[in-house]
Amino acid sequence: MKKIGVLTSGGDAPGMNPAIRAVVRKAIFSGLEVVGIQRGYSGLIRGEFREMNLSSVADIIYRGGTMLRTARSENFRTPEGRTKAAGNLRSQGIEGLVVIGGDGSFRGAQALGREHGIRFIGVPGTIDNDIPCTDYTIGFDTAVNNVVDAVNKIRDTATSHERTYVIEVMGRNSGFIALEAGLAGGAESILIPEMGVNINDIIEKLERGMQRGKLHSIIIVAEGAGSGIEIGRLIQERTGSETKVTILGHIQRGGTPTSFDRVIASRMGALAVDLLVKGETAKMVGMISGSLKDFDIDYALSQEKTIDRSVYELASILAI
Ligand code: ADP
Repeated sequence: MKKIGVLTSGGDAPGMNPAIRAVVRKAIFSGLEVVGIQRGYSGLIRGEFREMNLSSVADIIYRGGTMLRTARSENFRTPEGRTKAAGNLRSQGIEGLVVIGGDGSFRGAQALGREHGIRFIGVPGTIDNDIPCTDYTIGFDTAVNNVVDAVNKIRDTATSHERTYVIEVMGRNSGFIALEAGLAGGAESILIPEMGVNINDIIEKLERGMQRGKLHSIIIVAEGAGSGIEIGRLIQERTGSETKVTILGHIQRGGTPTSFDRVIASRMGALAVDLLVKGETAKMVGMISGSLKDFDIDYALSQEKTIDRSVYELASILAI
């Protein structure tokens, strides 16, 4: 293998930049040429390629977002789009691809590999942490820290005003961000799609707290568990306690990646290059119990990532 490509795809995540840096520098160290593909699969179809050298990735380790930009591409979902993409890779002499993105991006790479024999390795990059075969995805730790930072600030005003605060966080269909940030932020209730939402239970808990003299409460709602606005409205209606809703939105995705995200991004990006050099393909890299591993993409995409129920139960016990 002489030349590889790297792209970021799907939702951006803090830590994608350190992952790109690791791919580029490890590839050059291994004697490969590297091409950066801009705007994910959309740029792959349009031929947005740029040669990368050691200094192309200078000063990006601490920046959020992705220097290669990212995109969603409807065209890539079609066989015609993927044929065009494979043709562009061949005409550039790119023999292997590192795809940094979420499970949708991995499915896209899987189709490209199956239909056109393109070699690829997936690096899990999404704030949602919803990819199987890895305990952590790149960007999750930064997002959780962003949420906890916001919860701390909201707690100051919640304590001063004696109100109930509902905070809606990201996570698509999963509750990883809500659960981890809820435990770290000391939320009274954490609503996640994996556990179902019973509004009566939440209201009973709030009322028990109020009877005990608890003056304020913080409730974290994963976006996949329901609308924060709707839940806030129901709580205010049923408890009579003034309830404020904050939807954290895209601030969760921004900011400098945490050192944890930088470290896993660096390690995963470098491993992806090693695997391509060894002739491997159709795999994803992941971190299990602190060790890096690789998994067949077909296997990984057939698995479901589940939350740790004991963490959920602990958060509930501690927030009594
Ligand atoms: P993420 O990678 O963060 O999960 P998306 O689900 O939006 O983000 O996927 C990113 C891109 O991957 C999509 O815009 C599309 O181009 C491609 N993709 C997703 N799913 C498939 C699929 N089943 N087949 C082919 N391409 C896909």
